[in-house]
Amino acid sequence: MVQIPCQNCGKMYPEEWSWYSCNKCDYRICQSCISKHKGKYGSGFKCSQCTFGQMKRK
Ligand SMILES: [Zn+2]
Ligand SMILES: [Zn+2]
Repeated sequence: MVQIPCQNCGKMYPEEWSWYSCNKCDYRICQSCISKHKGKYGSGFKCSQCTFGQMKRK
């Protein structure tokens, strides 16, 4: 099974996991990080890494 790292916490999860990813950049985080990640551009369902991106459940 392929495992990929959460780009916020760095934990490895299966590729088939419930990821949230940005619709503008490729920032991808795990479910537990959706309430924790924050950055220059926002937090929660607003992508923290780019100006207009929204985090969508994959
Ligand atoms: Zn995470
Ligand atoms: Zn983004």
